[in-house]
Amino acid sequence: MAPAFSVLLAALLAATAPAVAPPVATSAPPAPQLAITIDDIPAHGPLPPGVDRRAVVDAIVAALRAHAVPAQGFYNRGFGIDDPQSPAVVAAWRSAGFPLGNHGYSHLDLDTAGPTAFIADAVRNEAPLAAAMPGADWHWFRYPFLHEGATVAARVAVRSALRQRGYRIAAVTMSFGDYAWNAPYARCAARNDRGAVAQLEDSYLTAARAEVQRERRMSAQLYGRDIPYVLLLHLGAFDAHMLPRLLDMYETLGFRFVPLSVAEQDRFYASAIDLSGSGPSPTLDGASRARGLAVPDATPQPDAASCS
Ligand SMILES: [Zn+2]
Repeated sequence: MAPAFSVLLAALLAATAPAVAPPVATSAPPAPQLAITIDDIPAHGPLPPGVDRRAVVDAIVAALRAHAVPAQGFYNRGFGIDDPQSPAVVAAWRSAGFPLGNHGYSHLDLDTAGPTAFIADAVRNEAPLAAAMPGADWHWFRYPFLHEGATVAARVAVRSALRQRGYRIAAVTMSFGDYAWNAPYARCAARNDRGAVAQLEDSYLTAARAEVQRERRMSAQLYGRDIPYVLLLHLGAFDAHMLPRLLDMYETLGFRFVPLSVAEQDRFYASAIDLSGSGPSPTLDGASRARGLAVPDATPQPDAASCS
């Protein structure tokens, strides 16, 4: 190559070279995903004075929408059956665009009711559920009390019935026992004990944060990554009171909110989607125990005697 040409080529190469070094592959992990599920619609837990079921659902819907959370609800037609507000609560949830799945008509405990009664109760909830979800798929099932059967036979009997009816199971991979704050809150609010309510607010957020750390630690230990998490919450008065702060916390921790169906596309949830196996549906506690790994302590619960 002639020297003049090589100088020209070098100049051209220099001119077309990027001014800065090309970006190197980043090692920052993707944002962890969180699917939020709300159980016991239309009625969960005791209410403080001056708060009704409609106020609870309105506050929860407003917080979910403000944070663009694609939440999934779970319906028990037999809950709040004597409350004239119940239809309006379900309508408020649905008109905000949130779907409903099946949580059983009367929230039976499979471990005490047995599979025959349990399946009948789930089937009884289907007509009202279908009526609340016209033209939409409602075939998600959430076990009341998260009890999936005291024996393998009971577990398989229910999984087989759910499979025949076209259900997927809504697993739970994040839960800090949110329901336990509703009763003390109702009592402390009735006494207008603001100090006690402030303590409940602190302990609720502390437990939620501890549960994030706990589940992420197990996921990292098991898989070296974040699985998409499925959070269990309830349609309770204290959940309504705390949801704006709770959702802020998850955002601050870097979570991205996704629908349940997106979270459960992850292979971790295979046994909650394909019900042909004996289950149970997956948890990180269960997966850790199965591998002989340490399971971190459960998250702290509120003082059950608060304001009693
Ligand atoms: Zn429930």
